[in-house]
Amino acid sequence: MLRLHDSATGEVAPLALREPGKVSLYVCGPTVYDAPHLGHGRFSLVFDVLRRYLIFSGLEVTYVSNITDIEDKIIERAAERGITESELTAVYEGVWWDAMDALDVLRPDETPHATAYVERMVELVGDLLERGVAYETDDGVYLSVNEVPGYGLLARQSLESLRSGARIEAAEDKRSPLDFVLWKNAKPGEPTWDAPWGAGRPGWHTECVVMSLDLLGDGFEVHGGGLDLMFPHHENERAQAVASGREFARHWMHNGWVTVGGEKMSKSLGNFTSLSDLIDRSDPRAYRLLVLRSHYRSPIEVTPETVAQAEAGLARLDELARRFDLEDPLDQGPVLPGAVDSDAAGSAAVDGLATEAFVNHMDDDLDTAGALAVVFDLVRQANSAADAGDDAVAMQSARTAAVLVGALGVRLAGSDNGEIDDTAADLVRRRDAARAAKEWAEADALRAELEAAGWLVEDSAEGTRIRRR
Ligand SMILES: [Zn+2]
Repeated sequence: MLRLHDSATGEVAPLALREPGKVSLYVCGPTVYDAPHLGHGRFSLVFDVLRRYLIFSGLEVTYVSNITDIEDKIIERAAERGITESELTAVYEGVWWDAMDALDVLRPDETPHATAYVERMVELVGDLLERGVAYETDDGVYLSVNEVPGYGLLARQSLESLRSGARIEAAEDKRSPLDFVLWKNAKPGEPTWDAPWGAGRPGWHTECVVMSLDLLGDGFEVHGGGLDLMFPHHENERAQAVASGREFARHWMHNGWVTVGGEKMSKSLGNFTSLSDLIDRSDPRAYRLLVLRSHYRSPIEVTPETVAQAEAGLARLDELARRFDLEDPLDQGPVLPGAVDSDAAGSAAVDGLATEAFVNHMDDDLDTAGALAVVFDLVRQANSAADAGDDAVAMQSARTAAVLVGALGVRLAGSDNGEIDDTAADLVRRRDAARAAKEWAEADALRAELEAAGWLVEDSAEGTRIRRR
């Protein structure tokens, strides 16, 4: 059984299921006002690995991740560019999914958009006002955190110590500096929705608590995101759930920072490098392998050196796939638990001991580094057994490596299923010509044609790049 670190308790504990065999995850998605950065890539990969591993363990997984399509930064950026908020968010949502597809991150089962849930958010804010835990000011509606039992759980600090560290923002007429906004009153030129207490728009923390509870119900299993979301975003989501008498997430899971040269990866520090940039300049599978090499709670360094090391690891896996003519286990979607029982080749069932070692590592709070070490041991074993002429052992080790690495979502590019046929090559040529001539509709139509034929399409500096899904 999987044991996970819970940010609320600071302890590693068995995953507590609401219902046997089923698990629900809510992972905070992007605010789509800019291109995704490396931190977005990391959390998407970490939670994709968790999701795939839960599926591999035999659980039925429901994965929800939202799109925040109304927020201060969106309004500002749209105004700067002289376009509407929805025009802006449509562009960056497209960029987001292109990056996710390139990284082989499975699409969520549900992708709620905040603007589609405003009515439910109005209901929640109304309920909190009625309960007397929220109050109106000149600029909106706030939650009084003094009324929330256990506020500070995720910050792992008492209300008292949080309060002494809080900044006092002079312009706001809040009762306590930690109180946070549930509803922002309408300002000229901003998108607004009606509410009984006055038109306006929801606060970010209200968006996620409403969408997660609405789609997954009370007491869903895991709420996750990057470490930067733990406080105040997740604390404040939880506060609203508690204040409205709802049972919220059972586990809180947060992944560590991405650093570049020892500094925190964050746009506010000015060291922004886009995720698309990384995907274009490296094997798109490399970031996944790089993420897997560290524990998800540790910081990772994403530099040309660490990416190149990950590519060297991929080369060894691809070489194995070519030598043993292995099929990519991801071709059929996520790897299922049955993959370790089957005996397709008649003589080369998987290595049970290695599989058990892999599972033990993964069950121990997703020790992916340990799990990968098992995979690379199998690669070594397969090669040396084949060199020594022991084909049965070699094939068993190779096949086990493929299944296990597939369970982590790493694609194998060794066999010929990635070869570009003449039809696809022709579509690529025509698409590059259309793009050069700025015939965007034609380029989009050719992209759609390639995608329909099962290709992942990426734009790089050299032009259209494709590979098998
Ligand atoms: Zn959120």
